[in-house]
Amino acid sequence: MSEIYDCIIIGGGASGMMASIFSAKNGYKTLVLEHNEKLGKKLYITGKGRCNLTNNSSIENHLENIVTNSKFMYTALYSFTPKMVMEFFENSGLKLKTERANRVFPFSDKSSDVINTLINQIYNYKVNYKLNCNISKVEKINDLFHIYDTNNEKYTTYRLIVATGGVSYSGTGATKIGYEIAKQFGHNIIKPKSALCPIILKEHTVALNGLSLKNVNLTIILNNGKEFSEFGEMLFTYSSISGPIALELSSKINKYNVNNAIARIDFKPALTIEELDLKFQREFKTFAKKDLRTYIKTLLPNKFCEYFFVRTGIKNIKLADLTRENRLHIINLLKKFDFSIKSLDNINVGIVTSGGVDVKEINSKTCESKLVKNLYFIGEVLDVDALTGGYNLQIAWSTAYLAGNNLKG
Ligand SMILES: Cc1cc2nc3c(=O)[nH]c(=O)nc-3n(C[C@H](O)[C@H](O)[C@H](O)COP(=O)(O)OP(=O)(O)OC[C@H]3O[C@@H](n4cnc5c(N)ncnc54)[C@H](O)[C@@H]3O)c2cc1C
Repeated sequence: MSEIYDCIIIGGGASGMMASIFSAKNGYKTLVLEHNEKLGKKLYITGKGRCNLTNNSSIENHLENIVTNSKFMYTALYSFTPKMVMEFFENSGLKLKTERANRVFPFSDKSSDVINTLINQIYNYKVNYKLNCNISKVEKINDLFHIYDTNNEKYTTYRLIVATGGVSYSGTGATKIGYEIAKQFGHNIIKPKSALCPIILKEHTVALNGLSLKNVNLTIILNNGKEFSEFGEMLFTYSSISGPIALELSSKINKYNVNNAIARIDFKPALTIEELDLKFQREFKTFAKKDLRTYIKTLLPNKFCEYFFVRTGIKNIKLADLTRENRLHIINLLKKFDFSIKSLDNINVGIVTSGGVDVKEINSKTCESKLVKNLYFIGEVLDVDALTGGYNLQIAWSTAYLAGNNLKG
């Protein structure tokens, strides 16, 4: 008979590694099963290789930045707070720094240092782990979970923590096994959707590919009239909008039908239509001999000018010859430049997955299944997701802490 572990964790990503440390620290003989060739493969690419590991702000702020099921995260966040996460890493020898918008990074700017810190603790607490181990099946017979990999090797445990993450970025090891295990034990799965992903447009934007717009307001107007807005920076790709504010909005609209919804850019959010009109009247007089195409270059980034000019539908006449109607039309376009949305980008390119194991059936104080004793779900496999800023990793750390510290028996 194979060795029986006190606790087995499927998935050696952010949440799985953290849970294993607390499980072992509490005296449980712990094994992590990871199908990649190394631990923490996704962590390596987080924060553009720098790993924004939490947000140095209040719990209230974390809760506000959780888009789906923030209430579920209440106990987890108060049990292992952002401050405690920072202390955990600093006490483990990793120097941290807090940057703009309270984003916390390793001082070295290297995500590999975050991974190595976790691995050092894994060694300290004598956690066992097995790499290249792709789990494909779980059975529960009496009090024991039997876990099988694709080579039909069996691992046995009294307590099972599922930490298999979401399904986006499959190159980092994402599989659906977490959802399959949950379903097998009677859990409901909320349909996984892309979150923090580009928004695909119907218009061709090849000419705008690579253009970054700063200090604009982006509003998504859904077919049901609901509106979501963000101010900041966005980016055009050849067929979509991306960049911080578009990514954040994608997470807010992914539960709705977005086909034919409108993505509206306000290029001059600091000025009202009336203020712009006064400015234009003044400038149209001063630069009466300038043509419209040249004037537009004073209003917008170069790469957008021709696109904007074509959209005005006005001939390239002198400013002096523009009618009042023309002027108001240009102002209106500056404040409300609309694109039509086709869809959100593929789930595989979403930074996180929205959807997953329905939290109604998970005890929010322990992360244990309410349906099956000694079965736990943590991290992104749960139907919880947040905006960018270190909030998603905080979800992974806090839920891992709950499971690792609430193992029973
Ligand atoms: C490009 C990118 C950048 C990001 N940047 C940030 C950031 O800076 N800050 C932030 O807060 N969040 C960031 N995130 C999100 C964050 O990385 C995730 O929310 C977090 O890693 C989730 O942790 P997890 O443990 O639930 O899942 P993961 O870290 O994905 O770990 C799951 C593990 O389970 C393993 N696994 C899956 N299936 C099996 C199987 N069948 N058998 C064995 N093992 C299996 C996987 O190989 C993986 O190692 C980023 C995500 C991406 C894609």
